[in-house]
Amino acid sequence: MDLIIKNGILIDNNGCYQANLAIAEGKIKAIFQGNKNFQAERVIDASKKMIFPGVVDTHVHFQLQDLGKIISTDTFASGTQAAACGGVTTVIDFADQTRGISPLKGFNERKKNADSQVAIDYSLHVSKTDIEFLDEIPTLISEGVASFKFFTTYSWRNLDLNDAELLELFQEVKKCRGMVMGHCENDSMVINYRDTLILEGKRDSIFHAHSRPHIVEEEAIQRVMLFAKKTGIHLHLAHITTKEGSDLLYQAKQQGLFVTGETCPHYLLLNEREYKGPEGYLNLMSPPLRHVKDQQALLKRVIDNTINQITTDHCEFSRASKGNGELPFHQVLNGIPGIETSLPLIHDLMINKHKLTYPQLISLMSSKPAKIFGLYPQKGSLRIGTDADIVIFDPCLEKRITPEILHYSIDWNPFLGRKVIGWPIMTIFRGHILCENGKFIGPQNKGRYLKCSYKKALRC
Ligand SMILES: [Zn+2]
Repeated sequence: MDLIIKNGILIDNNGCYQANLAIAEGKIKAIFQGNKNFQAERVIDASKKMIFPGVVDTHVHFQLQDLGKIISTDTFASGTQAAACGGVTTVIDFADQTRGISPLKGFNERKKNADSQVAIDYSLHVSKTDIEFLDEIPTLISEGVASFKFFTTYSWRNLDLNDAELLELFQEVKKCRGMVMGHCENDSMVINYRDTLILEGKRDSIFHAHSRPHIVEEEAIQRVMLFAKKTGIHLHLAHITTKEGSDLLYQAKQQGLFVTGETCPHYLLLNEREYKGPEGYLNLMSPPLRHVKDQQALLKRVIDNTINQITTDHCEFSRASKGNGELPFHQVLNGIPGIETSLPLIHDLMINKHKLTYPQLISLMSSKPAKIFGLYPQKGSLRIGTDADIVIFDPCLEKRITPEILHYSIDWNPFLGRKVIGWPIMTIFRGHILCENGKFIGPQNKGRYLKCSYKKALRC
């Protein structure tokens, strides 16, 4: 064996139990009690520690491109290393189609960029920004794309699809046996609110939230759910932020619609008060941060299993690329970092404060994301024969979040100063130790492209 982890408490979505794990050739080879006569290069004593399957974050943006130019701060290399330090061993990023250009070409370029750099496994969603090239969908699916993203807004960046186009996309993807994933905000409302505020001279960060009020999300979710119902396609809702949005997901599930949804740590832990003050501009993302009542509603919908999973929508920008607080809200690049702090923050919120069980936590952050995108049980489980992607987590380790303990290429983070109890102390990826006690030590580019498969997706 290459590695043995002894005396830890194994957690997967089925339960918790004390056992030992033996790892060889990148796979879990044995799960056993007591002593077996295994020899290993290294034996780790994980007494009083939790053993999780690696976190699967299915919504991230590394080296985000806009019109072919990289605009976000991290690369696939630095982003996946920070992810690994936070206990994340699989990510799904996006190949965003440039309108009028083949999405297959965009996908191949994005994949080529990532392949040589990634420290952990990754896959790609494809964002469709027009309804040309629909004939490429079967090829993309055979290349391992399970999910086609659409935007109902960002017309000013040529990203949105109109209603007729959405319906056509849904029909085509359904026919080819894929799923769709939506960024849902009503475009004309966003433009109207935004332009009115700017005309009134309202430039501060808080007006970003006012430019995208709750109805913007509620209306768009309701509309695309109707299209999903009519076409019978599986619709996945990206980053739900409002009480109204999460209630719509609840009702859709009650009616038997095949809809799943995610929310992010920042929508659970932060609210629009963060937009006040000179650093408020850093926290601009879309959809925006909401009210305390939305935080509470989202929390309730996570606990009652309506919201299926936690993702980060990680998208890192430096202070300078966000304009150093000198730009009006509508010109500030949208996005915040989050991938390295997601597991400890959600652990602290859900386990320490809201008494969720460990299997529930692992379901939200690892098993269900893997199931939805057809990666389970290779990812998201601790079973014999699956990839040895493992987090050793110390539930009692207290940490204050500071730039020094994080591995981002920027010096700010929306959660700085927060104290949490519980932190990942080792991340093992395909049997290699990538991070130990807060240091990235493992091979830098051993990650691989994973084929997602909607045909292998499990309903959850
Ligand atoms: Zn996103």
